[in-house]
Amino acid sequence: MESDQNDHQHCGDDSDHKHCLEMFNRLSEYLDNELDDITCQEIEKHVEQCVPCFSCLQTLKQTVALCKEAANKPVPKEFSEKLKEMIQNIPKTTNP
Ligand SMILES: [Zn+2]
Repeated sequence: MESDQNDHQHCGDDSDHKHCLEMFNRLSEYLDNELDDITCQEIEKHVEQCVPCFSCLQTLKQTVALCKEAANKPVPKEFSEKLKEMIQNIPKTTNP
């Protein structure tokens, strides 16, 4: 008998942060309120559980606020690339 029930992979590996990157692509839209409520809630849920994303989001919010006050410009591309670097530098979750 074969047990092919390994479909059920729990993704707690380093691939976990891929979701973070995808989410960050939406964050600027989120901050501009261009996303629908459901997506906003997804992002908010994620940052509640994900400390790196949470701190990044705080930084991003501050930066966006500064940018908007300054010139009403979108988030600088350089900044979003820095965020990606931050995420890539997140230490992989080590099992205790
Ligand atoms: Zn995250």
